[in-house]
Amino acid sequence: MTNQVKKVVVLGGGTSGWMSAALIKKVLGDVVDVELVESESIGIVGVGEATIPPIQHVNETLGIDEAEFIRETKATIKLAIKFENWRVKGESYYHTFSAPGRSLPFCHFHHLWTRANQLGIDDNLWAHDINFHAAEAGRFAKLQTQDPLFDLKYAYHFDSGLYGQYLRKISERLGVKRTEGLVDQVNLNVQTGDVESLKLKNGHLVTGDLFIDCSGFRGVLINQKLGTGFEDWSHWLPCDRAVAMPSERHQHTTPYTRSIAHEAGWQWRIPLQHRNGNGLVYSSRYYSDEQAAELLASNLDTPALDDSRVIKFRTGRTRKQWNRNVIAVGLASGFLEPLESTSIYLVQSAVVRLIKFFPHMGIEDAQRDEYNRQSKLEYDLIRDFIILHYHVTDRVDSQFWRDMQNMEVPKRLVDKIAQFKKSGAITHEELDLFWEPSWLQVMLGQGIKPTDYHPLANQFSTEKLAEMMANMKKAKQAPSLQMPTHDEFLKMFAGV
Ligand SMILES: Cc1cc2nc3c(=O)[nH]c(=O)nc-3n(C[C@H](O)[C@H](O)[C@H](O)COP(=O)(O)OP(=O)(O)OC[C@H]3O[C@@H](n4cnc5c(N)ncnc54)[C@H](O)[C@@H]3O)c2cc1C
Repeated sequence: MTNQVKKVVVLGGGTSGWMSAALIKKVLGDVVDVELVESESIGIVGVGEATIPPIQHVNETLGIDEAEFIRETKATIKLAIKFENWRVKGESYYHTFSAPGRSLPFCHFHHLWTRANQLGIDDNLWAHDINFHAAEAGRFAKLQTQDPLFDLKYAYHFDSGLYGQYLRKISERLGVKRTEGLVDQVNLNVQTGDVESLKLKNGHLVTGDLFIDCSGFRGVLINQKLGTGFEDWSHWLPCDRAVAMPSERHQHTTPYTRSIAHEAGWQWRIPLQHRNGNGLVYSSRYYSDEQAAELLASNLDTPALDDSRVIKFRTGRTRKQWNRNVIAVGLASGFLEPLESTSIYLVQSAVVRLIKFFPHMGIEDAQRDEYNRQSKLEYDLIRDFIILHYHVTDRVDSQFWRDMQNMEVPKRLVDKIAQFKKSGAITHEELDLFWEPSWLQVMLGQGIKPTDYHPLANQFSTEKLAEMMANMKKAKQAPSLQMPTHDEFLKMFAGV
């Protein structure tokens, strides 16, 4: 057991640093002092613009006013990701944030749908999804209903630089102390080996009891100082670079992200109020940086606003998210490409976990081990979900896609796919961020069709099943017919 934790030092002022500082100070209040150190000379990674619905909990916890948030971060609404050309060129499907249809007790809706599909009654699962209809129509409203049938779940696209600044304002208001300076030495306690202080280039010393490493890909504490080690996943996820390039906004902003597969990677298109965020995620084994930049530039759907910028990354995670008295959060803790917008969520999840385990009386080994077990499992499960998109594809038009199809994938994923193919069943595992509807949409979208369904789906006659399917579609589409357009909503709700 180490000493009591009275002061937390956060190293890094990107999204992860400011989110960590804000949440810890807001929830723990006077229990701890929080000091954040950041260096303007290094700057932030400056990408990370698409989120998933749990971000609403961060905003609620911090008491953020949603309309102000939308204005300050130039945010738009995100209902889904549209995956284009992933199974075959010219085809697309959505991964929405909601669940299709209405499930029966003990039997998910998709079993009913599978039966209907096999009978030739219904060919589109997504027509039973409220988010799909709103996304396709380019519409949005905050629905005032408790009925889970109409649970229109949403997240945001935002400007990552503005989001960091917004969180900084909140943190400073809550009492977080900000220190500007470049850390050029990390001092360890000679007896315990724990981090004791950070020495800045100007000579200033920042001491603390617990250190949160939010220093980005460098991992100044977890990696450079403690040498924690890295588990490399590039054999499953070979993309190791992204080229980013902003472009002019569209006249009408879509309430969804686009993810467009190319011969060796994929392109994101994220609509913001003032511009589109665009990027191409690729593998340097298949594209040179110049090829990637050219490909992106030639596939923008609005004029470019700036030059392209290449960002290099390594896919994998640090072997221990919590090592000694250092907890790695954000890019310092690992990286999974932004295909499912999971990185900011992983920041949130790490900080919430830390707050739950907060070692105010000193760090216990058992507590640290459990924190690490949970963090590893959470990362591994998201990794498998991302591999699914690449591995289960019918594309054979390039070496990249052939390699993706032929690679060996983690056993847990192999079993999950086999179970779904055979029975339509999807098991939700402990700590999996993605629930059944997410796995369902991506497995179906990538072309896996279950051969069987749950026997409870046989309880209705064919006529009754057809009637239920038709009614469900109508019910799920009806709200979007009444909604304002996405742009009208932003104007009415946030005045932008
Ligand atoms: C191409 C790409 C696209 C992405 N898209 C998404 C997305 O759509 N959705 C999503 O959720 N996530 C996305 N992410 C991830 C997201 O960008 C990051 O999770 C998020 O920005 C957090 O970054 P960070 O704060 O950990 O690191 P950074 O932003 O790199 O911040 C690091 C901080 O550490 C400081 N620092 C470093 N070294 C020192 C030192 N020696 N002394 C003092 N200060 C130091 C820097 O000054 C900086 O303030 C994407 C990432 C990439 C690479």
